[in-house]
Amino acid sequence: AMSASDEVQKAADAAKTVGDGSSPTIFDKIVSGEIPSNKIHDDELCIAFRDVNPQAPVHFLVIPKNRDGLTQLSKAREDQKALLGHLMYVAQELGQKECPGGFRIVINDGKDGAQSVYHLHLHVMGGRSMQWPPG
Ligand code: IMP
Repeated sequence: AMSASDEVQKAADAAKTVGDGSSPTIFDKIVSGEIPSNKIHDDELCIAFRDVNPQAPVHFLVIPKNRDGLTQLSKAREDQKALLGHLMYVAQELGQKECPGGFRIVINDGKDGAQSVYHLHLHVMGGRSMQWPPG
């Protein structure tokens, strides 16, 4: 049977060989280092860095290194499930470390979701008591 790490590796390999052909986003430039970022995590599949316009005392973004068509969550393909799981796993690991009292993970999708950068990213926010509903 295929292990979870094999699944993740398969997703990484697929991500290297396919591109969606659209122009680079600001997050592609953060991945390449062309634009500086305050990075807090870096592995073979993703990075995490502090949001420039934080909405909470702790606010960072987790993004796939290779966008591979993942301009937004709703463009996800079935073969990207392992990558999506990896992003969420890393988000909660960092969230626990930075926000022991709890945290919130948000993915904005599309116009009505108030998405502004079309390169999938998970927001992780905390360091204060978060409000609900988010508006
Ligand atoms: P969205 O509205 O969910 O697409 O969120 C995009 C986020 O990216 C916003 O919270 C921005 O503050 C953040 N952002 C945009 N450019 C940069 C950057 O260069 N570095 C870090 N965060 C950025």
